Amino acid sequence: MESPGIEPESCSPAQEPPGSPAPPADEPEPSEAAPAPQQEAEGVPPPAPVAQGRRPGGPGSKGQAKRCGAGKGGRGKRGSTRRAGEELGRPARRAHVTVDSSKAKTSLEALKISLRQLRWKEFPFGRRLPCDIYWHGVSFHDNDIFSGQVNKFPGMTEMVRKITLSRAVRTMQDLFPEEYNFYPQSWILPEEFPLFVAEVRMMKESDPPWKPTFIVKPDGGCQGDGIYLIKDPSDIRLAGNLQSRPVVVQEYISKPLLIDKLKFDIRLYVLLKSLEPLEIYIAKDGLSRFCTEPYREPTLKNLHQVFMHLTNYSLNIHSGNFIHSDNVNTGSKRTFSSVLYRLSSKGVDIKKLWSDIISLVIKTVLALTPELKVYYQSDIPAGKPGPTCFQILGFDILLMKNLKPVLLEVNANPSMRIEHEQELSPGVFENVPSPVDEEIKVAVIRDTLRLMDPHKKKRKDNHLPDTCMVSKQRFPPVSSRLPRSNLQFSKFAIVRSQLSENSSDTKDDLLEPGSTDQLEHDISKNPEASLPSLCLKQVFPKYAKQFNYLRLVDRMAALFIRFLGVKGTMKLGPTGFRTFIRNCKLSNSNFSMASVDILYIDITRRWNSMGLDQRESGMCLQAFVEAFFCLAQRRYKSLPLHEQVASLIDFCEYHLAILDEKRLVCSRGITERRAALVTCQPDGLHLTPATHAPLLNRMTAANKLTDYRNYQS
Ligand code: ADP
Repeated sequence: MESPGIEPESCSPAQEPPGSPAPPADEPEPSEAAPAPQQEAEGVPPPAPVAQGRRPGGPGSKGQAKRCGAGKGGRGKRGSTRRAGEELGRPARRAHVTVDSSKAKTSLEALKISLRQLRWKEFPFGRRLPCDIYWHGVSFHDNDIFSGQVNKFPGMTEMVRKITLSRAVRTMQDLFPEEYNFYPQSWILPEEFPLFVAEVRMMKESDPPWKPTFIVKPDGGCQGDGIYLIKDPSDIRLAGNLQSRPVVVQEYISKPLLIDKLKFDIRLYVLLKSLEPLEIYIAKDGLSRFCTEPYREPTLKNLHQVFMHLTNYSLNIHSGNFIHSDNVNTGSKRTFSSVLYRLSSKGVDIKKLWSDIISLVIKTVLALTPELKVYYQSDIPAGKPGPTCFQILGFDILLMKNLKPVLLEVNANPSMRIEHEQELSPGVFENVPSPVDEEIKVAVIRDTLRLMDPHKKKRKDNHLPDTCMVSKQRFPPVSSRLPRSNLQFSKFAIVRSQLSENSSDTKDDLLEPGSTDQLEHDISKNPEASLPSLCLKQVFPKYAKQFNYLRLVDRMAALFIRFLGVKGTMKLGPTGFRTFIRNCKLSNSNFSMASVDILYIDITRRWNSMGLDQRESGMCLQAFVEAFFCLAQRRYKSLPLHEQVASLIDFCEYHLAILDEKRLVCSRGITERRAALVTCQPDGLHLTPATHAPLLNRMTAANKLTDYRNYQS
C-alpha cells in the first residue's frame, strides 16, 4: 500500500518534496518588490543597517518592531505617540508590514495573494534589513533570525511526528483517560511489540466477538506513505517492518461517518498564536477529503484497498474516480462547512460537533505545549535576542459514525498549495487553480497575518485607539449576505473583524462626532477595511477555565526547565535532578539521595535506549514526567494518578516559592523593616504571616485547580 506521495505537504524537513517553487524571477507589481533601503520605511526612520540580515545583539536591541516604534514617535521624542507626518500637519502614512517570503516554498502562492490583499510589503528574495515577519515553508530553522516573528516554532516538526505525538497524548491519557479518549489506542513499535501482542490477546479473550483491525503508520511518514492495515499482530508484514523503521500501530476506526457512502476526513487549520501565554485560534472552515471508493468495513479481502480506507488526497487523486470540482459542495475535496451544512440538514447537532472538535483541538495542543516549551527555551533562551513564533497547524480529524471526532494526526506543515495537477493527456500534467483550496487557505494565511500584525500589536500596547472606532448604534448588525465589494460591507467588516478579534476591547468604543468621514478616510488608508471578518476564532484563553485543570504536564515542564541549568540544553543532568529533589524537599529518611540517583539512572537509561534523541545525554522531559509520576505515587499512595501528580506539583511549587522569596529577601539585604518581618537564619527562613501571604495565595490558586474539574463537559 505504498503511496506515490505527490502532494507537497511536508512531514519532516528531510521529506520536504523537491521542486518547491523558488521565488519567481519576475516578481509581481513593482510596488511589492523590495525597495531601496532609503525608501522602505515610509515615514519611519530606517533602522541601522545590520550585516547579513542579522540584527545586532546586545542590550536594547529588541528587533525591528521596536525600532519602528521609536521611529513613529519621532527622533528624540520616544515617548510621543504621534507620527512624524502628523506633526507636520499632513496625515501620516501607515508603514507597511514587511514579510520575508524567500523560504515560503509551497505556501508561496497563497502567501502572495494574502500579502496583496493586506497591501503588506513582500521581500521574495529576503532582505538585508530585518523584516517584521518571516514566512517559512518547513521549519523554524529554515533561516537564522534574531528579531521579528516567524511562522514556525522550534521543535514543532519533531513534536507532531507520529511517535512523539502518540507519546505526548499517552501521557495525558495516563492522567486523564476519559478526556483523552479521542485518540485511538496506539502502540509504538518495535519497543512495545510484546505489549501490543499481549494487550490485543487480552482484549480478544475478554471480548471474543471483537474483530479488530489495526493501521500501521511509519514514524515521520506522510501522505499515506507506507501505511497499511492488518487484522492481527502476527501479520507477517509487520514483523518485516520491525526491522526497518519505527512505526505507530493504531486501532483502526472501522465505523467512520460516511457521506455518499464514502469515508472522509477533515483538515482543520489551527493557529498557535503564542505559547506563553497560550493562545489558540481555529479556522471556522476547513477541508473535507473524500475517499474515491465506497467504504466497506475492513475484511481480509479489502484491507489493501487504499481508495476505500485512506482519505489522503495524494493517494486518491490517482483514482479514476477522483472528482475535481470548482464547487465547494461537491467533488473529492470540499469545504468542511459544506459537509456541516449537509449534516445539519439531516438533523445533526452541529453546535455539539463543533464544541467536541474545539475541545479535541485544545486538549491536543495542551499535550504538545510542555515539550514545545523545552524546545523553545533551548532555541531562544530567555534574555537572548530572537524572534517570537506562531504557527499554523493542520489537524486531521475523522468523524465516527456516532459523530465523535477522532484525532488522526497533526501536521506542522499543512499543505498550503492552492493549485492541483491535472493530467491533460497521458503523462502530460498542468497545474490548475483549485478554488476550494484557495478559498480556505488564503483566508487562513491572511487572517493569521492580520492577527500577528506587529503594528496592531504595538497600537494595542500603546493603548492607542484602533484605526476606526465605531458605535454599535451607528452601525447596527448587518447581514453577511452583503456583497464583499460593497463599501458599506467594508465599513462593517472593520467593525465585525475588530469585534471578533477582541469583543471586550470594542464593547465600549464610541464613534467620535463627525467621524464618518474619518471612517472613509481610514478605509482608503487601511486595506483591512475591505476584508471580511476574521476566519480564525479564538478558543484559548477564551475557554481556558474549562481546560486549565489539564495543564499538569505543563507545570511539570516548568519545573523541569527551571532545573535544566545550562541555557540551550533540553536534558536534565544528574546534578540538576538532585537539586530539584533538594529544593522541592522531596528526599527524606524513606527516600534517600542514593535512591534519587538510582531513580534518575534507571529512567534516563531506559528513555535513552529508545534511541529517540542521542544528541545530548541526560533526562528528557518525558523521562522527567515518568520520574515525577513515580515520586507522586510514592508520596500520595491512595489517590488517583492525576491527583497524586497535582498534589506533588503543588508541593514542589510551594517549596520553590518559599525558596524564591527567601533568595529575594536575602539578595536585597535585610533592611530594618524587613528584619522585623523576616529573618534569614542558617536553619531556614522564618516567615511572618505578612510575608507568607503571597505564598498562601499561590497555594490557594493551585488548590483551585480542582474546581476546574467541575466545568468538564
Ligand atoms: P499520513 O500522515 O501518512 O497521512 P495519517 O495518520 O493521516 O498518516 O493516516 C492516513 C490516512 O489513514 C488518514 O487520512 C485516514 O484516512 C486513515 N487513518 C489513519 N488512522 C486511522 C485510524 N486510526 N482509523 C481509521 N482510519 C485511519
